[in-house]
Amino acid sequence: MTQLNTPYPSTAYLTGFLRSRGVDAVQEDIALGLVLELFSPAGLRAIRECVDELPAGDRAPVVVGFCEHFDRYLATITPAVAFLQGRDPSIGYRICGRDFLPEGPRFAVLDDFIDEDGGDPLAWAFGSLGVQDRARHLATLYLNDLADVLREAVDPRFEFVRYAESLAHSQASFDPLAEALAAPQTLVDSTLEALTQEAVERNEPKIVLLSVPFPGSVYAAFRMAHAIKARYPEIVTVLGGGWVNTELRELKEPRVFDYFDFVSLDDGERPLLALFEHLDGDGQDLNLVRTFIRIDGEVRYCNAVQPDVPFADVGTPTWDGLPLDRYLSVLDMLNPMHRLWSDGRWNKLTVAHGCYWKKCSFCDVGLDYIGRYDGAPAEILADRIEAVLEETGQSGFHFVDEAAPPKALKALAEELQRRNRAISWWGNIRFEKSFTPELCIQLADSGCIAISGGLEVASDRLLKLMKKGVSVGQVARVTRAFSEAGILVHAYLMYGFPTQTVQDTVDALEYVRQLFVEGCIQSGFFHRFTCTVHSPVGLNPAEYGITLKPLPPITFATNDVDFIDPCGVDHDALGLALDKALYNFMHGVGLDEDVRTWFDQPVPKSRVGRHFIAKALQASSDLDS
Ligand code: SF4
Repeated sequence: MTQLNTPYPSTAYLTGFLRSRGVDAVQEDIALGLVLELFSPAGLRAIRECVDELPAGDRAPVVVGFCEHFDRYLATITPAVAFLQGRDPSIGYRICGRDFLPEGPRFAVLDDFIDEDGGDPLAWAFGSLGVQDRARHLATLYLNDLADVLREAVDPRFEFVRYAESLAHSQASFDPLAEALAAPQTLVDSTLEALTQEAVERNEPKIVLLSVPFPGSVYAAFRMAHAIKARYPEIVTVLGGGWVNTELRELKEPRVFDYFDFVSLDDGERPLLALFEHLDGDGQDLNLVRTFIRIDGEVRYCNAVQPDVPFADVGTPTWDGLPLDRYLSVLDMLNPMHRLWSDGRWNKLTVAHGCYWKKCSFCDVGLDYIGRYDGAPAEILADRIEAVLEETGQSGFHFVDEAAPPKALKALAEELQRRNRAISWWGNIRFEKSFTPELCIQLADSGCIAISGGLEVASDRLLKLMKKGVSVGQVARVTRAFSEAGILVHAYLMYGFPTQTVQDTVDALEYVRQLFVEGCIQSGFFHRFTCTVHSPVGLNPAEYGITLKPLPPITFATNDVDFIDPCGVDHDALGLALDKALYNFMHGVGLDEDVRTWFDQPVPKSRVGRHFIAKALQASSDLDS
């Protein structure tokens, strides 16, 4: 339950690694299978049966529309899904005609773009020729309507990219998850369990590893483990992945081990090798690495000291076994950069392990996936790229590093150019000085089409406090260099950082406005700051002027921690204004207006000079000339 357009990389990495060590490993993407099953004619009939059990008075408009046009939905679901999978492009012409797919409440968004002359409301985004993209957007709205029906009539916890997220996110106690697992199954649950059993019968595994990257994949993983243990108690089940690495470090809950025999932290390679040795032996030795087990009803953490497998030796990921032609490229956001996250199939790789900077005070820098930096020579990376290209036949790569190092990117670009290898790629970076205009052009030549990086709170005072190591002027210069090289730029933005005042927020929005005006960035996203227990802010709150609220006793998950900021700013209300402004900026709207107009409450005038960014850019080009 992560994304629909491309496989999550963890299983590809582990499968590649395990095969390189002679282990007979296979992978399955049950999350994709679940969506394809529910959004099929049989799935829609099953949803319809659930709808029919609802009292007529309890049906939301989207459900009523689903029933009225049920035959049409049945007729269109297979071609619409095939279209989004890229397997049936010609149906796009019918979709664009607007009387093929039934249109529910989600299509109301098109009214925002109504052409006053009665013309095409999407012409501004797709022109008169963009049939495929236009149809992709319409088919996405259609699927979103169906997901709303599913939520209304079957299971309110369902979303395409997460399921029952609140049961796992920073849940100190296992009780809510245990109750949900004991409750009667919904159609989503029973479909998930059936798919799991089919996968087990197909592969007959001895060991099943479940990877849970985010809280929104945890409940489903427990459901799947339940399905396995109920029928095949002899199969060993192991839980790992990003959510475990972040949130389960203080695990004390024995009931978790009714579902999983082992829970492993951080990179899986070394713990799995140790686990296999343990299972091959008599089970007595506990030479396990970063692994929780239950012994005599108590949870025990075993961590025999063994070196991690170096990044250069983890092998090449493999997508073998995953149905690459069945992933769905959806188009929700009509912004050229935003769409990259949900549209197109990207081979996900990392340029290095961890973050070379590892200083930002809001980030989990103490955790292995950030704090342990380990690179690999450009030749090895290029070999991996070529192997993946050969296997998948797809030349798009998403480098999913937290922050890919400029030196490594430069070396990789040189290697790709030396091999005359044509690919396209995008990834996360820090907006640091070493991304010169020359390097940006070189990266573009090597296939870079987009980059994303953190500007966080656009305020030099707060950037310093968060140890981001960049200034607003520097971000302007670096992002402009990328944009001028033809590379799209996305900025991660933040609000609600400790000591951030209303004035800081207004000023930050003014900087962001100017960055759009000057063509430095093309998209962005405002995240609300959350304090995590593993970050420098969470570990030393007094340094940041805040007090942490006490946490409940932790037996299960822990991550976010509430805090008191004496500033007392209502960040929720400001956040709405920031989102509204950014959404409009991304569509080129409202860029000339005073940023105060986006706020519903009175806010002070920005202290930022109206041409601050233009001047910062001018100063740097004067220096260059
Ligand atoms: S926020 Fe990004 S750049 Fe900063 S330490 Fe974390 S991963 Fe590194």
